Amino acid sequence: MAIVENLVKIKNTLPLHVQLVAVSKFHPDEAISEAYSEGQRIFGESKVQELVGKHERLPKDIHWHFIGHLQTNKVKYIAPFVEMIHAVDSTNLLLEIQKQAAKNDRTINCFFQVHIAREDSKFGFSSDEILQFLNSTKLQDFPNVRICGLMGMATFTNDTAQIRSEFKFLKDLFLKIKNQFFYDENSFCHLSMGMSDDYQIAVEEGSTLVRIGSSIFGNRIY
Ligand SMILES: *Cc1c(COP(=O)(O)O)cnc(C)c1O
Repeated sequence: MAIVENLVKIKNTLPLHVQLVAVSKFHPDEAISEAYSEGQRIFGESKVQELVGKHERLPKDIHWHFIGHLQTNKVKYIAPFVEMIHAVDSTNLLLEIQKQAAKNDRTINCFFQVHIAREDSKFGFSSDEILQFLNSTKLQDFPNVRICGLMGMATFTNDTAQIRSEFKFLKDLFLKIKNQFFYDENSFCHLSMGMSDDYQIAVEEGSTLVRIGSSIFGNRIY
């Protein structure tokens, strides 16, 4: 029951333009079913095998988002059904997503992950790399990929000023890229930022998609 209460509480604090990805990684099917019964349809997972199993067992109208680091050789397992891939961090990965999406005759929504945190353990393009990539790449060569925007994870810290400045940085980069590369109003519209501990700051700084796990489902047991 706590799951439903947590979910409702969080949904009530989010502005209408912000979508909630309920991050269900490491939680059982039953936890997802509870959130589902409350109307939640977007769930986030970060392990390919776990996602494939949950997709097979759970209702087919769930929108599955892959939020973790994705290995190129595993794209094929989720390409038939995944709605959105949040952490595209290399050209090779994007090429493989294009290939597998085409094979399945679908379009897969993608975010570029940008490294904004101080820690160097997190994946993602640097801002220079992403600009270089966009300058040297014809997005028309990726007809089965829709680039939705940018995704980033802030430093794990209690320093809220630091977190805020990292989200601001991502928003500025997002606007710069949107103006320079995406003329169509309806493309490149989303910023995926904010997790349990920092989503309120992320929303204030322009997030349109928050990825929240432990505040809904409790602590993960690894
Ligand atoms: C696990 C994870 C989350 C959710 O984290 P919580 O702190 O549990 O809300 C969000 N984004 C990514 C990329 C994750 O791997």
